[in-house]
Amino acid sequence: MAKGENKAARRNPFRSLAVRFSTFVCTLVLLVGLTAITVLRQESKRQEQENAETAMKGLGAGYAFAVSRAISSADPARVDTILHSLAATPGIIAVRAEDKTGKVLGAIKGIAAAETVGARYDLPLTTRNGSPAGRLKYTVSAQQLMPAPARRLWTELAGLAAIMALSVPLTVIVVRRIMAPLRQLIDFSEKVGANRLTMQIDIKTGDEFETLGHAFNHMMTRLDASMRRIQRLAYVDPITELPNADHLQRDLRTAITAAQHTGAPGALFLVQLDRLNRIAETLGQEAAYDILTAAAARLASAARAADPWNDNPGAGAAPPMLARLAGEEFAILFPCLPKTVDLRTMANTVAQPFDQGFAWREHKVTLSCILGAAFFPRDGEVPESVIRHARLALNAARETPLRMRFFSRSLDRAATARLNLEKEMRGALEQNQFRAFFQPKIDLRSGRIVGAEALARWVRPDRSVISPAKFIPAAEEMGLIGPVSESILRDACWKAAAWSREGLCARVAVNVSALQFADEGFPEKVLAILDQAGLPPQCLELEITESMAMDDVERAIRTIEPLRAKGVRFAIDDFGTGHSSLAALTRLPFDVLKIDQSFVRGLSRAGSAEALVETILAMAAALNYDAVAEGVETEEEAEFLRRRGCPTAQGFLYSAAVPSAEYQRLLRQGVIQPTRAAITLDPVA
Ligand code: C2E
Ligand code: CA
Ligand code: CA
Repeated sequence: MAKGENKAARRNPFRSLAVRFSTFVCTLVLLVGLTAITVLRQESKRQEQENAETAMKGLGAGYAFAVSRAISSADPARVDTILHSLAATPGIIAVRAEDKTGKVLGAIKGIAAAETVGARYDLPLTTRNGSPAGRLKYTVSAQQLMPAPARRLWTELAGLAAIMALSVPLTVIVVRRIMAPLRQLIDFSEKVGANRLTMQIDIKTGDEFETLGHAFNHMMTRLDASMRRIQRLAYVDPITELPNADHLQRDLRTAITAAQHTGAPGALFLVQLDRLNRIAETLGQEAAYDILTAAAARLASAARAADPWNDNPGAGAAPPMLARLAGEEFAILFPCLPKTVDLRTMANTVAQPFDQGFAWREHKVTLSCILGAAFFPRDGEVPESVIRHARLALNAARETPLRMRFFSRSLDRAATARLNLEKEMRGALEQNQFRAFFQPKIDLRSGRIVGAEALARWVRPDRSVISPAKFIPAAEEMGLIGPVSESILRDACWKAAAWSREGLCARVAVNVSALQFADEGFPEKVLAILDQAGLPPQCLELEITESMAMDDVERAIRTIEPLRAKGVRFAIDDFGTGHSSLAALTRLPFDVLKIDQSFVRGLSRAGSAEALVETILAMAAALNYDAVAEGVETEEEAEFLRRRGCPTAQGFLYSAAVPSAEYQRLLRQGVIQPTRAAITLDPVA
């Protein structure tokens, strides 16, 4: 159906139905009328013909009597006169009288045309005493017996027209009356279709329409209740029962439009709670939910307290709205702010509830929050951009000591720079600009190189080298850490395989990102790379951080075991900086423990670092792990570690991470003379 037709039918579907029905009824009336006229006409024609025939017969009977008398009186002249008189009657074609022997007493031609014979009459003539005296025969013209055809046609057609003229409006009225409840139902359905679910229909016809109306009303009540439930579910966060992200988006849109009209700005604060995940891990999900709900209640009253219209409730400004967006993130919408308002005070008031801890059963829990805010319409004219800008402020707030930040255009520029960096990184990945540099690991007793840690470097086409500190966090955020780490793993394995073919020490340690480690197919990927490079698995060591392993110990074991079974070694990186449980640690199948450089750095200063390093070394020995001290920069540190039985060290004292060719040269040399000058060797930008 064409679009226009469709629209017309939707506009008034009743009309076409009623018109069709009325047309049908009128056509029916017309047909019945015409059939009736035809039947009646035929019937009356037959009747009239019969009447005419009877009349002509009666006429003949009178003449027969007169002729009989004239015959009885033997008066042929009279017979002749009578026959002439009969022949002069209109419609008579011919008259003839015979005596009983058949002798013609008289035969006269009538005045009508002879060819159209309608009927022939043959009447007996009798004497006075009733005995037969002969016969009177006459012929009547068909015209005489035929009624005038058009005589009553006009009357009948006029009658029919009158009936039609009456029946059309009558039909329309009747059809309208019959259709009225149907029309009501159609109108009702249209309105319901336009989402007016609270409507009820009132049909009082006492018939099936009324029953249908009741059924509609019942259906609407149930539909309305269901829709309300769905709306509630769609717009309410089930844990805190606060409005959810969609609800916020809707109200924010309204607030932005109002702000554009009135000129009074509004604000969106995003509040992110810290440490809720940790609470869930240590006290369980129930505790996390309870504390989240309590935090939401505190935030709600803080939002009311921060409302600048608080002291002036008569001002008619809409109150702030607290919503839960996701996980640990809340939003407070201040739809309308006064022209002058102290935003910093507002933000402090919002953050205040977290100054005090939360009690859960016998536990005391502290939460902190970070806060980012954006304003509208200044920072965005659509909800998406206001929320995005508030989130940029929130992310930037992490880096500030006060842990709160208002959006500024410079944040946007930083985000754009991030975006450009992402584009650049994708290109760099395609062009293999991420390379492995190698930092030698030294046997503390012999001074010999026993392997290397592969460290990622971004080598730009202009030969400038970018440190992982600059691109690894960005790669993690952009979801590029997987491919970047994989390209380093691949590069390191190919290089090590080449050294191995040269008979050099090929042992290489590669850092694994959390995302890579979480990938179900990680073990297969590593084995495939080893296979392609032709590096024996025993030459590869994978470094994972404590937190990656401790996040889900069972999963970590499932990932590590198949690789270890092939000979790949595993090291815990940055040991001592996480919060490993010793019980979990003993279950994890590691081979090497890397003492974090922060402890090594402390060795040269007075403090507890010495005791800590000693404890870690003792623990490594007890668990039968190798130990590697990271970040060794001075001879004193090296000496301390050597004396405490630490077998291996890496650090600027020996060498920074160097390009593969340089490392190959060192490998051939075998031993590295410790020198503090090595610090300056790190070519990282
Ligand atoms: P990390 O695994 O703890 O690596 C050791 C870091 O300490 C390296 O920094 C290294 O250059 C630096 N370092 C080595 N010796 C010394 C020293 O004597 N003094 C000081 N101050 N620093 C020293 P780099 O190369 O900047 O890497 C930083 C971090 O980036 C690494 O820490 C690692 O977590 C990550 N990373 C590096 N390459 C990769 C990689 O290929 N994949 C993944 N996922 N992460 C990588
Ligand atoms: Ca490492
Ligand atoms: Ca480390």
